[in-house]
Amino acid sequence: MTLKLDTSIQYLKGVGPKMAEKFARLGIETIRDLVFYFPRAWQDFSRPQKISSLRIDQDVIICAEVTSIRQSRTRRKWMSIIEANLADETGEIKAIWFNQPFLMKVLKPGEKFLFAGKVGWNFQNKTKNFQVGQVENLSAGEPLILPIYSETEGLNSRYIRRILQPIIKDVMAQFDDFLPEPIIIGEKLIGFNEALLNIHFPQNSDLLAKAKERLAFDELFLIGLRMLNIKKELSKNKAIALFWEDGLLKEFVKKLPYQLTNAQRRAAWEILCDLKKSQPMNRLLEGDVGSGKTVVATMAALVAAKNNLQTVWLAPTEILANQHFKNVKKLLAPFNIKIGLLTSANKKADLKKDRIIIGTHALIQKDVRLPNLGLIIIDEQHRFGVKQRSHLRQQSVVGRRLTIVPHLLSMTATPIPRTLALALYGDLDISVINEMPPGRKKVLTKVVSPQHRAKAYDFIAGQIKAGRQVFVICPLIEPKDTPPAGGKINLFEADRKSAVAEYEKLKKQIFPQFKIGLLHGKMKAKEKDAVMKKFGTGKLDILVSTAVVEVGIDVSNASVMMIESAERFGLAQLHQFRGRVGRSTHQSFCFLFSESFGAANKNRLRAMVNCFDGFQLAQKDLAMRGPGELSGLRQAGLPDLKMATLADTIMMTRARRAAEKIIGGGLKKYPKLSAELTEFETARHLE
Ligand code: ADP
Ligand code: MG
Repeated sequence: MTLKLDTSIQYLKGVGPKMAEKFARLGIETIRDLVFYFPRAWQDFSRPQKISSLRIDQDVIICAEVTSIRQSRTRRKWMSIIEANLADETGEIKAIWFNQPFLMKVLKPGEKFLFAGKVGWNFQNKTKNFQVGQVENLSAGEPLILPIYSETEGLNSRYIRRILQPIIKDVMAQFDDFLPEPIIIGEKLIGFNEALLNIHFPQNSDLLAKAKERLAFDELFLIGLRMLNIKKELSKNKAIALFWEDGLLKEFVKKLPYQLTNAQRRAAWEILCDLKKSQPMNRLLEGDVGSGKTVVATMAALVAAKNNLQTVWLAPTEILANQHFKNVKKLLAPFNIKIGLLTSANKKADLKKDRIIIGTHALIQKDVRLPNLGLIIIDEQHRFGVKQRSHLRQQSVVGRRLTIVPHLLSMTATPIPRTLALALYGDLDISVINEMPPGRKKVLTKVVSPQHRAKAYDFIAGQIKAGRQVFVICPLIEPKDTPPAGGKINLFEADRKSAVAEYEKLKKQIFPQFKIGLLHGKMKAKEKDAVMKKFGTGKLDILVSTAVVEVGIDVSNASVMMIESAERFGLAQLHQFRGRVGRSTHQSFCFLFSESFGAANKNRLRAMVNCFDGFQLAQKDLAMRGPGELSGLRQAGLPDLKMATLADTIMMTRARRAAEKIIGGGLKKYPKLSAELTEFETARHLE
């Protein structure tokens, strides 16, 4: 039988329907799935240690002959114990196994095997012994580095190896290398087939390293290619070129209560120049919390309105939509532009006459028809993946001449390290506001240990008496750890603070004299609005909230940001919380409370104390916890990678550079590569 890649795994020798079910649990259904099920680790038997050199507590591999073997049973529980003497030319050691009686048949005296395990100390005999975890019987010529796969019950690495080994060469031969030759040569990569073979059955450690490199490169290269390809396709679309004159913008700037920063001017200029083109703008505006993105985006909306086109402005929450509505209205007051608000709670927009419609992301889902849409602004872009972005654009095209699409401006306060930005937003041009408005003081940041909690509360009371306001952030809404009668407390939840419980505690025990509000995602939109309004107008002293307050809330009188269970949040997210205060000339404070004392955690929180650069913090988080943990990025369509990591800056750069070369000349010239890209997008659900 020739092996087709799409053949079900159950037809392989030694599998059958029962084992196929177990394979399915690992997501393996076809032969293709099997060969792309990469090992999670490798065990190197190629350099076994000599018995005479073994040290206690070491994990080691030895190659030894079984000189004698016997089985006995424990008196209690009747467990099988196998004891054997193993010898090489340097010495002898006693090995033991519990409950593996079948080894009596495998380990024949006089034969040589490879053993992996841990060296222990036998107190009774005062000798070293060897607790063997793994026995391998490798015939000469077989590779000595063994793959270890993620296993499931009844399906172990040895079995996967046994199934894969006889077919791997046959399967491999069916793959044509899709990487164009100049890239393979230029990047000094090994061929795809060789990589596939060596990832499962490495011939030596060098080839294993080359196999990992090649497969990781492939993933990042395909991501880069995909992004550049989308970008290129988008650039073929037509947009309505917007007309503006310096005079309009000068007038706008003159009426602002402050001067724009240089970074704001630069970003605005990049955006406004995009709008002048008959190609759709496709830009990400990145800027730390409080860097003043709103006013920059407002200039774009003003230009669109003056061209008699509509702008849709999407915010992630009701609260933010309301806030933008208020601010944009104020900023554009001198220009007589009709502005509408459209959220689930508030439908005051006139879809025909309004030139700027501000609303929640829910707007996208609904079939909102805007006859004259010219610009889409998305606030807090990091919650959107490529797919949603293109959906948004497509939808707005319905009912128009097909090739005319609106300009798109995305904004995010999440500082995204550059390599990651390329993987996630490589289809966008990027403008960065890397400068804060003048007069902002650094937010004094402190990690507060549990014994200093009372002192922190005293300090907070002082701030409130001086007229300031306070945020308290908790990771949970409700205390999930309330044990059922007689039940156990879940240790992982027990130390996480909940907004509801903290609210009650502060109100009743700590600050009965102050006015305290509660905000979380389970509240109705109207309730949330009411609470925010009260806090915004100073009718509340303290706002206890979950992470809903994360993005964009602007209450400049607030001077304390207190974060409970701070270790539960990513650094980028903590930095965003911190950005909620320090928005005026008052000195502001950020208190990080943590009941977790691990060194890694301490390290992370210390970074908050010393570092005020969102990009640096994000980079740290990326290195320490991986891309999935970066604030909000999990939902943003992070590609699921098998071999590569997005934290690998060097590899990302190499892959991106190679992808640029290919796209420059056109993907069409490389049909195999095109096909692979499609396959990659489907397999990783990136479409
Ligand atoms: P973000 O970038 O987080 O969206 P905002 O646009 O909400 O920031 O701006 C934060 C605050 O800074 C707002 O109160 C805004 O009025 C103010 N602001 C914006 N630009 C300037 C500036 N150039 N000088 C002084 N204050 C500014
Ligand atoms: Mg904002």
